[in-house]
Amino acid sequence: MVDVKVLKESAKKEVDSQRKRLVEIARWMYENPELGSEEYKAYALLTEELEKQGAKVERGLLGMPTAFSASFKGKSKGPRVAVLAEYDALPGVGHGCGHNLIAASAIGSGVAAARAAKDLPGEIVVVGTPAEEGRGPSAGSKVIMANKGFWDDVDAAIMLHPAMHYGVGGKALGIWQLKMEFKGQTSHAAASPEKGVNALNAATLAYMATHMLRQEARRDANLVIHGIITEGGLASNIIPDRAVCEFGVRSSDEKYLVTMVDKVEKCAEGAAIATGAQVTVKKAKLYSSMKPNIPLVKVLYQNYVDQGVKVDDWQETQAGIPMASTDFGDVSQRCPSTGSYIGIGPENTPGHSRQLADCSVTKEGLDAMIIGTKALAMTLVELLAKPELLKDAKEFFNTH
Ligand SMILES: [Zn+2]
Ligand SMILES: [Zn+2]
Repeated sequence: MVDVKVLKESAKKEVDSQRKRLVEIARWMYENPELGSEEYKAYALLTEELEKQGAKVERGLLGMPTAFSASFKGKSKGPRVAVLAEYDALPGVGHGCGHNLIAASAIGSGVAAARAAKDLPGEIVVVGTPAEEGRGPSAGSKVIMANKGFWDDVDAAIMLHPAMHYGVGGKALGIWQLKMEFKGQTSHAAASPEKGVNALNAATLAYMATHMLRQEARRDANLVIHGIITEGGLASNIIPDRAVCEFGVRSSDEKYLVTMVDKVEKCAEGAAIATGAQVTVKKAKLYSSMKPNIPLVKVLYQNYVDQGVKVDDWQETQAGIPMASTDFGDVSQRCPSTGSYIGIGPENTPGHSRQLADCSVTKEGLDAMIIGTKALAMTLVELLAKPELLKDAKEFFNTH
């Protein structure tokens, strides 16, 4: 008879014994932030570390140069449980989303759980998922993996994300990002304006028209629209022949999200017609909303609570409003999944900021990373040790 408690204790001890190395990894990534699809150094560091710890590493997973899967096989064939790593940073704010801690926790929990559960049947997989922030050819890599069926033979997937408090099973909005590129004609802004077509005017109209859509937002669908103008001309005495807007449209209702993105596209087309410019709209991958899996939420929640940290009540989290988006949403639509949050700093720290990046390497931030790593490791062990848990998770997944 397997004593799950003993195995979980040993997973926790394994995490403690790795603390120094995990902190080094988190700090190194903080000092060396890399943008999505370009995370070559972090990728090398993480894959080498996993190999050193005995994992069988598949590099360049599914044709993505910075994606990987690292497998630790147990005693015999059995369920396949995954922990996900992210390692992309943001322009201007480095690891302002704290993905350095996600990477360290995934490596640490995968290795610790694999050691503790080495005599159990099954497999623990650490999956390296680049470009979560949506940049470059591997943007939304978890969606690419979902479309290629990668998650279909995973029995459960878990991960953590830095935040300012502890919580499990947070919800996420679906998001669709789009880019509008307007093409006009340059001309002297004073001497021959009649010969020009002002692409910036087109972009400005599209920007305003998109803003006006908010009036008709369905409040129950948590619509969020945000955008910027990234290009708007080169000199004020030249009528701009190129202007570019980028928008993100988010909602908890995916069908409604598609409808609203359609309307945003119409804003771009309308602005082009009004100004005589041409427009090309490029859409990124749609990130799905998060599908909750309550049996998994309960296990992961308990593994945080048992460490004595204050964790938001999971039922309240479920009842709350989804705030951000993640390509983990697409994983949750394909296999039982749940995420968790760790509290790395003061509550008023903004997300996607230099301040958040700095929190990730304070004592508080690194301690939180270790707590999260332990919760993930214990959960991986528990899932392999108690087949009935995975059965419940699967059943919940199939019926919700
Ligand atoms: Zn982010
Ligand atoms: Zn993030």
